Amino acid sequence: MPAGRYAPSPSGDLHVGNLRTALLAWLFARSTGRDFLVRVEDIDRVRPGSAERQLEDLRALGLDWDGEPLLQSTRTDVHVAAIARLAEAGLTYECFCTRREIAEAASAPHAAPGAYPGTCRRLTDDERARRRRERPAAIRLRAGVTTWAVHDVLHGRYEGTVDDFVLRRNDGVPAYNLAVVVDDADQGIDQVVRGDDLLSSAPRQAYLADLLGQTAPEYAHVPLALNADGRRLAKRDGAVTRRELVDLGVDVLTMIAGSLGLSGDSPHEMLEAFDPARLPRDPWVVVPPGAPA
Ligand code: GLU
Repeated sequence: MPAGRYAPSPSGDLHVGNLRTALLAWLFARSTGRDFLVRVEDIDRVRPGSAERQLEDLRALGLDWDGEPLLQSTRTDVHVAAIARLAEAGLTYECFCTRREIAEAASAPHAAPGAYPGTCRRLTDDERARRRRERPAAIRLRAGVTTWAVHDVLHGRYEGTVDDFVLRRNDGVPAYNLAVVVDDADQGIDQVVRGDDLLSSAPRQAYLADLLGQTAPEYAHVPLALNADGRRLAKRDGAVTRRELVDLGVDVLTMIAGSLGLSGDSPHEMLEAFDPARLPRDPWVVVPPGAPA
C-alpha cells in the first residue's frame, strides 16, 4: 500500500506550524487513498518524553495513522547495511574535516554555496592513515553529480545541489539524509509532505534513493509558519504549542484549518474540500496570544 507520512524529531513539543504540516501530510495521504504513517526520528536531538507528547498532540488534532509509529532508532542495522552497500560499490569515502575546516574551504572562491568542497575525497592512503589516528572519520557519499531534479507538487520541477553529503556522522550515528531515504523506501512511502525548509535537501535524498535502486517519492514541500518578524516560528514567540493554546481557550484545529482556507470539526471533514492547487503558497504568519509586544 503506498503511503504518506509525518516524521517529527522528538526534540520538544510541536508548535502550530509543525501541526499544520502534519495535518497537510495527513490530508495529502488520505485524499489520495494512501496509508498514513508516523515515524519518530529519534536518532538525533531527543528530549525524553517528547515523542509521546507529540503523538498525543497529533491524536488530539484528530489525526490517525496506520500501524504503530516507527522508531528510527530501531533501524540502525538497516542504515549501517545501506552504507556498507554504498561502500562496496565504491560510493563512499572517509572524511576527517572539522566543522571549521569545512566552513573555511566552503568560503573559498568558486565553492558551491552550502556544498562540501570534497577535501577528503582526494586524500592519499598515507594521509588517510595519519588522519585516522587523529579523529574518527565520518563517511561521505562520493556523489557522481552536482545537481539533481525532483518533482514537487507545489514547486514543480526543482533542481538543487548534490554534494558529497555525510552518510554516517563521525560519532557513528547514521546521518539524517541516509536514514530518511532508507526508511521512506522500506516503509513504502511514495509521498513526502514536509516543511519547505527541507526542499533543498530533496535533490540529495532523491539522488541517494536512485543510487540505492529506489524510486524517489513524490514531494510536497509546504510553507512554514513564521513569526511577525518573518523568522521561523519558535517557542519564545508566545503560546505556540497545542497545550499552551488550549489553555488559552484556542481551538487549534480551527486555527490551523483557517490558515489553509479549510473548515470542519475534524480532519476527516476537511478531506472533501482539500485541493493542493488551492493551498496558500506563502508562509503562515502567526501572531500567537501572549506574543511579546
Ligand atoms: N525529522 C525531520 C524534522 O522534524 C523531518 C524529516 C522529513 O520530513 O524528511 O525536521
